[in-house]
Amino acid sequence: MLKRAAVRMQSAIAVAIAVVASVLVLAVAPWWMVVIGPLVGLGYRAAALRPITRRERVALAPVPETWRELLSRRVPFYERLTPPAQRRFEGDVAVFLAEHRIYGPQGSEVPEEVKLMIGAGAAMLCHGRPDWEWPHVRDIVVHPTQWNEDGEPGDHHGIAGQVHLQGPVLFSRKQIRFGFRKPDGENVVLHELAHVLDMADGAADGSPDRFAWSAVPGWEDLVKSRLKSVRRKQGGPLRAYAGTNSAELFAVAVEVFFEQPQRLRKQDPQLYEALATLFNVDPDTGVLRRALPE
Ligand SMILES: [Zn+2]
Repeated sequence: MLKRAAVRMQSAIAVAIAVVASVLVLAVAPWWMVVIGPLVGLGYRAAALRPITRRERVALAPVPETWRELLSRRVPFYERLTPPAQRRFEGDVAVFLAEHRIYGPQGSEVPEEVKLMIGAGAAMLCHGRPDWEWPHVRDIVVHPTQWNEDGEPGDHHGIAGQVHLQGPVLFSRKQIRFGFRKPDGENVVLHELAHVLDMADGAADGSPDRFAWSAVPGWEDLVKSRLKSVRRKQGGPLRAYAGTNSAELFAVAVEVFFEQPQRLRKQDPQLYEALATLFNVDPDTGVLRRALPE
């Protein structure tokens, strides 16, 4: 999630401003401007770098042992990573949690392990794409139970998570825990965060704008054909809810891709390949398809 190339560019611009300003003021200005010129450049540099250095500080700080223990126990994807990749994953979780407000009804506290599971879902989706930015304006609200269309709580109701084009991401705490209990292909955190990625371009259409669609020719045709086969109950790895529309098909496919990659690879190799290209990772090994830039 760190944009090192952009940082280097901003830093170079700042130094150039400082040098040019110094030369100009030396030629025409009084002595005190010789001091101000470089200060303007250095001030710009500090302002440009501040969010990145704060993020890097969070990403590089060691995480508590309880985090590692929970990630090892609940997140098979994390377990498959090499130790350096696990450190990067932990940093991604820490950055996500540091940059998002996560709370319960009326601002109540959310248990740390539940927050960690949300951060882990985000870190999984971005592991192969560290350049992706989450929209930090979205708060995350964790309700104790599920709810219905009218917002009435109760675990007999069917809604476990919800996200709209704007506003907070909503989760049921119980369903978050359920999602990370075992890799059964259902995980509400992965599902709703896949919607968030999808909606970043302003449309929930199963084709997130930020994906390198050019790398997956025929993605939209693939989505259409899988929608048809799910609706016709022709079997396959995706549950019936994927047949709702293309956005739900994408979100359900993301759940299966990260939770049961071997099953998806076996039952629908074309869909598996498309998602592995998009997310730049094989979730059954944690190995990246293409190495990350420096
Ligand atoms: Zn959905």
